[in-house]
Formats: sequence, structure tokens, C-alpha cells
Amino acid sequence: MSKEMLKFVNIEKETPFKKKVTTRKKDFKEIYSEFINEKAKEQSSRCSQCGVPFCQVHCPLSNNIPDWLKLTAEGRLLEAYELAQSTNNMPEICGRICPQDRLCEGNCVIEQSGHGTVTIGSVEKYITENAWDEGWIKPIKIKNEKEQSVGIIGAGPAGLAAGEQLRKLGYQISIYDRYDRPGGLLIYGIPNFKLEKQVVERRTKLLKESGIKYLQNFEVGKNSTLKQLREKHGAILIATGVYKAKEIEVPGSNLQNIFPAMKFLTASNKKGLGDKVELFDNGTLNAENKNIVVIGGGDTAMDCVRTAVRQNAKSVKCLYRRDKENMPGSAREVANAEEEGVEFVWLSSPKEFLGKNKIENLVVDKIKLGEPDDSGRRKPEIQEKSEFIIKADMVIKALGFDPENLPKLFNSKDLQITRWGTLKTDFDTMETNLPGVFAAGDIVRGASLVVWAIKDGRNAATSIKKFLENKETKRVKVA
Ligand SMILES: Cc1cc2nc3c(=O)[nH]c(=O)nc-3n(C[C@H](O)[C@H](O)[C@H](O)COP(=O)(O)OP(=O)(O)OC[C@H]3O[C@@H](n4cnc5c(N)ncnc54)[C@H](O)[C@@H]3O)c2cc1C
Ligand code: SF4
Repeated sequence: MSKEMLKFVNIEKETPFKKKVTTRKKDFKEIYSEFINEKAKEQSSRCSQCGVPFCQVHCPLSNNIPDWLKLTAEGRLLEAYELAQSTNNMPEICGRICPQDRLCEGNCVIEQSGHGTVTIGSVEKYITENAWDEGWIKPIKIKNEKEQSVGIIGAGPAGLAAGEQLRKLGYQISIYDRYDRPGGLLIYGIPNFKLEKQVVERRTKLLKESGIKYLQNFEVGKNSTLKQLREKHGAILIATGVYKAKEIEVPGSNLQNIFPAMKFLTASNKKGLGDKVELFDNGTLNAENKNIVVIGGGDTAMDCVRTAVRQNAKSVKCLYRRDKENMPGSAREVANAEEEGVEFVWLSSPKEFLGKNKIENLVVDKIKLGEPDDSGRRKPEIQEKSEFIIKADMVIKALGFDPENLPKLFNSKDLQITRWGTLKTDFDTMETNLPGVFAAGDIVRGASLVVWAIKDGRNAATSIKKFLENKETKRVKVA
């Protein structure tokens, strides 16, 4: 293992899978800095209040960034928090894991003029963490609970944001989820070193204390049909995310120790939450002392390579068929992975998996980039007779996700989908073709971001409110 990699492994050993919020170790560049009051003030006062808030325009939630930066700079932290939370249901989570370099911070005017961006995400996280510490964040108190209820399928950020918005309005909320914990990919996808699980659990607990009912280990399609849920609730929100792993079809794919990314990450996250995970404990899903090869170039691939580093892998390689400039993952994540000792094998694609029963080697083709395809990206083409061998004890496939076949799964053939398998919704209302059934998050957009899931959840909640109000008006008129 390289010296670089050893350095990071040793650091992580000091903070293995903690349940509590961990403080940032000095050498970890990837995690937001642990702000103190003075630093937050200093960063906030760097905002030039430029008058054209490009940061706000490029935040999917249109957060009023300049104003909460100003309030923070003036030490008015309660007001700063109130403003930040008025547009975002999970500011401390977005502050941690939004790809700010592509959103708010990447469009900061100071950044554009070469002076380094205001670290907006860190300030957003600081304001909200401070609010938690001060006891300003409290469960929702309902004076007059409405009789109407909403059934939400999926306890990821889209479902949780919608649930919170509707609960504030007094509706009864039931969230059904097939996992044993709420949080969706916040809890079982995104690794602990990017988003501490205690931070997610604190939010989901708050919603429970606000009267939202979680029905865990409940799979719609198995434990009930969509029709049954529609009969039970005034409106339904489908926020099930996308979970069908994209496959790679090469000879040897059935060998042991070749896993989809979510299997590897879920085991690691469950371990971090203190669960007993047999396949991790018996070594099957543990990268320790193994040569790991991750296939893919997105953020999920980056999470896999960096998780493997933290599990004391012997070596970690990332195979990607394009070059660094054309990688879909965030440049910041790639830089962090490189710094931690991950070896990137650019312009390469697996041709065959070799081994007796278990994976032992990969035959890999070299790739050259051809003319741009329909998407505008240069097409990868195999270079003739360029193959080479890479040793591997475990292969992790991180090639992206497709939606599951929801009409089939939900026994609801009339539910319309797009040609990509995502749910077809009305652009304005987020309602599907079934009246009173709405959809939000990745199941509408395809694999996306937490901040967009929150945005969709909030928009869907607004439409659901209108729908339920109309329904109630009609009912009263008839009565
Ligand atoms: C490894 C990984 C890392 C990521 N890192 C980042 C990041 O750093 N920053 C960022 O912004 N985004 C990141 N993302 C993307 C982000 O997590 C998603 O865009 C976001 O979670 C989508 O939210 P959602 O609510 O639509 O779906 P999800 O979070 O996927 O939640 C869907 C929920 O629905 C439940 N469900 C599914 N089917 C059923 C059913 N039939 N019955 C009952 N329940 C069901 C699931 O169990 C799940 O809990 C990452 C994604 C992955 C996979
Ligand atoms: S929600 Fe994300 S994009 Fe918006 S201000 Fe916060 S960190 Fe930036």
C-alpha cells in the first residue's frame, strides 16, 4: 500500500464507524470544516452582497444565501437559521453533501473573480448545527390535526421533505419503506465519512416526534398493492428512488466476489450503524487486505473506492472507460480519492473476469475516445489488441442505476412510465396519470441529488395540499 493510502487509513482507524458526529481530522480534505463561530462569521462576511445572487440562482432550493450569510456575519444566528430552514428541510445535510462546486459555490461571484468562493455549504451546516445545539429545532406541534391522510412510499429525502411539509399543515402522514430504517440513500447509500449517520437519524427522529408514522420493512408490491394504499389514504406520493443496478455483460460475470455497489455500501453503512452484518463479518463484503477493483466513474464509484481504502484494502483501483476530464463524478471527489491512494486506470474497460470460482483477474481493454455521440461526449472505442491483466480479489460494479419496473412491482399496470422507466408526471403538479398519486425524487428524475429530491418533495407537497383541499371542498358540497 502506498504511503499516501496508509496515512488515510491510519487516520480513519481513530474514528472507525462512529455513531456520534465525528470531528474532522486535519488531513481529511473532503469533509466540510468543523466551523467555529469566528470562522463562520469570517466566511460570511466575505460575501460581497453582489446584488446578482448567482449562488441563489444555482441552488436548486433557491436558498436565500446572501441574506443568511449577512445575518451570520452580524452574529444573528437564530434569524440566519430561520431563514435557511424556511427553504430547506435538511440544511445541515445539504451543507455537508451537496456538490457545491457545481451548484452555489461554483457560481459565487468572488470565486469567478479568482478570490476563492465563500464556503456556503459549511456556513449552512454551521448555522443549522448551532440551531440543534441551542435547542431551536423542535418537533412540529399540531393544533388541529386534519382527518385526511397521505401515504408516502419511500423514506428518502424526497419522501421525508414532503412528509414534513404536509405534517406542518396538519395532515396525517404514513411513510412506508422497505428498509428497516428511514433515510433512503442518506442512511444506506452515502458513506458515513461523507454524512454521519447520527445526523440523518436525528432528522428522522424529529419527524417521528412530529407525529409522522414510519412503517418500516414494508414493501409496496409485496406487503400491499398501490390500489390498497390509495383506498387507505387521501393522496399518495411515490418517492421510491432508483435501485436497479446497471450491469456489465462480460464473460465471467457470475464468478464469486463480484458485487453491485449498493450491496458493498449498504453492508458498510449497516456496520457503521452497529448492526450485525454476517457477510461483512465473515469477510465476504469486507475489503480488508484485498485487491479491490471498482468499475465506474461516478460519485457512487468514488464512494466505493474511498470506503475500500477505509476498510484497509491492500490496493484500490478504479477502472473508467473515459479519461479524467470526461468523468461524470465530481472533480473534488476524484481529487480526494487520488489523494487517499486510489489508482485510476483511465481509458480502460473490462473484457473478461477470470478465476476458478472466485474472481482472480480482470482482462482489460484499452480505450480511445472517438467522435462525440448524441450526448456530446466522445464515444469510447476499444483499441485492438491492447488488453492487459489486473489482479483482483473483489470487484465492485458502480455503473449507475435504473428505475425498477414500478407498474409491475406495484401491480398497477395503468401507472404510466417514461421510456427510461421513470414515472411520468405532470411537469407542474408532479401528479402521475393516476389521480391523487404524485411522485418525487430520483424515481421521476433518474439518479440525481439529495437537494433535488428535497425540492421535488416540497413541490409535491404543495400540489398534494391543493388536491386534498379540492377533494374536501367537493365532499362538503355533496354532503
Ligand atoms: C452511493 C451514493 C452516493 C451518493 N452521494 C450523494 C451526495 O454526496 N450528494 C448528493 O446530493 N446526492 C448523492 N447521491 C444521490 C442521492 O442519494 C439521491 O439522489 C437521493 O437520495 C434521492 O432521494 P429519493 O428520496 O428520491 O430516493 P432514495 O433516497 O433512494 O429513497 C427511496 C426510498 O424508497 C424506498 N423504497 C423503494 N422501493 C420501495 C417499495 N417498493 N416499497 C417501499 N419502499 C420502497 C427505499 O427503501 C428508500 O428508502 C448518492 C447516491 C448514491 C447511490
Ligand atoms: S442546498 Fe446545496 S446548493 Fe443550496 S445553498 Fe445549500 S449547499 Fe448550496
